[in-house]
Amino acid sequence: MSVRDRTFGDRQAARGRLWQRTLRGGSEAMTRLHADHRNDGMPPPASSISVPEPPAMAVPMHVIRGIAVSPGIAVGPILVLDPRGMRLPPRKIMAEAVVAELERLDHGLEVAGREAEQAEGEARARLGPQYADILAAHARMIGDVTLRNDTRARVEHEQIAAEHAVIEVLEAHATRLERLSDSYLAARAADVRDIEARILGQLIGQRPKSFLDELPTPALVLAQDLSPSEAAGLDPRRVLGFATEAGGRASHTAIVAAALEIPAVVGLGKFLDIARQCRMAVIDGDEGLVILDPDLPTQARYRAAAAERSARFQELSRQANLPAETLDSTRVVLWGNIEFTAEIDACLNLGAEGVGLFRTEFLFLNAETPPSEEQQFQAYAAGIRALRGRPIVIRTLDLGADKLGRYRDPADIESNPVLGLRSLRLSLHDPGLFRPQLRAILRASTLGDVRILFPLVSTLAELRQARAMVRDVAAELVAEGHAVRENLPVGIMVEVPAAALMADHLAKEVDFFSIGTNDLIQYTLAVDRTNETVAELYSAADPSVLRLIAMVVEAARAHGIEVTVCGKMGGEPLYTMLLLGLGLRQLSMPPHQLPEVRRVIRGVRVETARAVAAEALRLETAGAVTSLLESALRQALPETPEPAAPATR
Ligand code: PEP
Ligand code: MG
Repeated sequence: MSVRDRTFGDRQAARGRLWQRTLRGGSEAMTRLHADHRNDGMPPPASSISVPEPPAMAVPMHVIRGIAVSPGIAVGPILVLDPRGMRLPPRKIMAEAVVAELERLDHGLEVAGREAEQAEGEARARLGPQYADILAAHARMIGDVTLRNDTRARVEHEQIAAEHAVIEVLEAHATRLERLSDSYLAARAADVRDIEARILGQLIGQRPKSFLDELPTPALVLAQDLSPSEAAGLDPRRVLGFATEAGGRASHTAIVAAALEIPAVVGLGKFLDIARQCRMAVIDGDEGLVILDPDLPTQARYRAAAAERSARFQELSRQANLPAETLDSTRVVLWGNIEFTAEIDACLNLGAEGVGLFRTEFLFLNAETPPSEEQQFQAYAAGIRALRGRPIVIRTLDLGADKLGRYRDPADIESNPVLGLRSLRLSLHDPGLFRPQLRAILRASTLGDVRILFPLVSTLAELRQARAMVRDVAAELVAEGHAVRENLPVGIMVEVPAAALMADHLAKEVDFFSIGTNDLIQYTLAVDRTNETVAELYSAADPSVLRLIAMVVEAARAHGIEVTVCGKMGGEPLYTMLLLGLGLRQLSMPPHQLPEVRRVIRGVRVETARAVAAEALRLETAGAVTSLLESALRQALPETPEPAAPATR
């Protein structure tokens, strides 16, 4: 899990203490384990790849927690990838061979660059522009003059073969990136290794064999890391899921996995040494868990959960057009959360009535340089048009903390970034970043039902400053002859306790609230939302969080403005009754969560939900609230499935 300010060793030790629980031991269990392997019904692993032999000594079942980046459950045989995919013995060259070797190097770089460009074209057609842009960046890196000069210098002065010059230069670069405490920059090492493999493939006269070419049977791929282009090449029919030691939420690989709908968990820390002794695994992309060598009951539980999940999803997706209306006829508006406009189709197919949260910072996270005003305008316009008149809430940049653009200078990294210059604070601090975004949003505002949302507002002064900037930019655009929508709705994310406590005042100056529970929980309970060692404390069910939500809803009601929950809590069926009971009538969530939340809404009465919320507000602990919500949900909708994962709340 990405914990920015601790060493890998620290993280590993913490993981070992907390998560890597040995769930089974003893000789009886070992005997059973071998029997499980014989009887698991799965084909034997391939011998040409690093799928392990059956263990000489049985290993216990290990549960490892990482970062859930792509939902779904996968159970199957595992394929452990070699970290670099190829091994080359070092090779020196004679002085008189240097000129020829330099030519070979130049040729290898040129062909690898062309190949990356071609892969970019293929990715554009298959996956859309944001993935193609990653490969375009790879092509530029391969063509970079510094890379050429550095590798040539090594061939000339050290008289080493071209491939070794490439390895030395790029491995040093990748290692430097990996050592950075910033998880986003560290994740860029995968891009460097990706281009390294591509160039080496040319220099040693063959394409590095894709592990997919060697995948004999559908499997779970376990790797130190997967490069973005490896992830983009995954075939969901053969790769059932993947889990990596490295990686964070903002990595390209994570983004690609979610788009391909392959269950994935990243940031697991060192686990491949254990995995090599195992044959089977479960990847739970909902809960962020990997279970190595699950025992038969665990496998059966997860297989059943996966089958049920998929059947339920199909069934519920067919009901996407049914109104999200309670048994006593209260209408609830369901919106989708998106990071890229390509996700709008999924939102509409699953019955979203609009986009309640467009996380625009993802346009920046994947770019070599900040996108221009025009590039942003095109992206917003595409989203607005795709929604054909339905609302779209465009959130201004929420950069900072764990979301950093790759062009950001590592020297700027703060010691406590979650409390630092992030989000709206960063935008206000840097008009060169903020104004082009506001111009792009305002220019697009006449194309549909656009609303603007400021993240992480802590004070009224900040809100006023941001609104003044919007007015100023609007006047500037009008003076330039652009059309700008009058009375563009402006809202704020309520995601710090200060904003919740001041909601009655803030409500007078905005058109809507959107409650960002992900951050609201983090800041209310003082629990880093990315730190697994304190994960037990991170709970949407904590009474302190519920009280703040109730205050915000009441302030919105008193001032007649709309209020939405767009944090993770809004898409979790466990909390749907509670939120309805607290007075919420709008929820925004990742598209795949829409069907289940719609089902709960359609199965409950507001009256019952109000009673549940009132009871929850009287309770003292998150545990008590969770138990109440579980039993209320089971009572209202008895067919609700049990979570497959051990409870963590
Ligand atoms: C939130 O904090 O709840 C939210 C929706 O914003 P993000 O997850 O992007 O921080
Ligand atoms: Mg937030």
